[in-house]
Amino acid sequence: MESVVYDIIIIGGGPAGLSAGIYAGRGGLKSLLFECFDPPSQAVMVDVIENYPGFPEGIEGFRLIERLKHQAENFGLEFRKARVDRVAPDDKEESIWQIKTGEGVYRSLTVVLAVGARHRRLGVEGEEEFRGKGVSYCAVCDGAFFKDKDIVVAGGGNSAVSEALYLTRFAKKVVLVHRRDRLRAVSALAQKAKDNKKIEIILNSVITRIQGKDKVGGVELRNLSGENKSLLACQGIFISVGYAPNTEPVAGLVEVDGSGYVIADETMQTSKPGIFACGDCRAKPLRQAITACGDGAVAATSAIKYVDRIKGRAYE
Ligand code: NAP
Repeated sequence: MESVVYDIIIIGGGPAGLSAGIYAGRGGLKSLLFECFDPPSQAVMVDVIENYPGFPEGIEGFRLIERLKHQAENFGLEFRKARVDRVAPDDKEESIWQIKTGEGVYRSLTVVLAVGARHRRLGVEGEEEFRGKGVSYCAVCDGAFFKDKDIVVAGGGNSAVSEALYLTRFAKKVVLVHRRDRLRAVSALAQKAKDNKKIEIILNSVITRIQGKDKVGGVELRNLSGENKSLLACQGIFISVGYAPNTEPVAGLVEVDGSGYVIADETMQTSKPGIFACGDCRAKPLRQAITACGDGAVAATSAIKYVDRIKGRAYE
């Protein structure tokens, strides 16, 4: 067990965690951030973030992360590469939390959960079997492998449409398959997809099976209005059907909503004193890089106040 007690330990190196790190470091807290890159921050996997204020030309996801990291380092944030397995109360001191990792146990007065969310699985036959053999969850990571190929994208939200648009750079054709009668994505994105000649949109349909020999050869579609099935030949399928929060380290410890997202108030305080949540792992109406950064700033500011109170130096 590490003997040093941190003021703040941030779990997660995406926009939320790094923004919390900037504010915590600048606020004079002894601060440490854990990042494990598995899964990587969603932001890293975004080709270009078009709606992050101040970047009218857009900014690549990985570049935004790089810049946030550089800024946090300048304010004294420490980094460790390790997966956090569990957050638990300290056995001796009530105001301390233990952060258990494969590299050892760390202690801190406050914890900021910025663990993000990971891609949800479609849950159909062939999905696991062909993972990495035509089944992907990240167009920016794998799109280039599908030059001049036919690709299917599953989902109808902002992510699915963004992925479909990105994939048109490489693919011969992209078929977007959505289960409802219209796309969930915001109209500006949906319109871009409709206007793109390489994209075909199939509505009211679900993918029931991914098939192939050694790699993906096609998907089985079921039309929800007529119930008839058809086979769509393709060499790749990108699954983009939403996210599930990476909240395993705090399972059963903090209050979560019906989908497992951490419930926090407007100060980012969770149901446990000293534990704050920010970014995509939090129950909230809009998950974007900008809202993650805002959450991170609030979480760290609340953590600073909390630490000041414990240390008897609060300016109330
Ligand atoms: P999302 O908005 O939850 O959309 C998930 C989509 O997958 C929905 O259309 C959903 O269908 C469909 N779906 C879920 N389970 C399915 C299943 N088993 N079979 C078939 N389809 C299924 O998730 P997201 O698109 O990944 O976006 C997540 C968050 O990131 C959102 O807040 C989004 O706004 C944000 N985001 C924003 C941008 C941007 O602004 N440019 C880009 C990417 C992501 P239903 O519609 O029927 O529920």
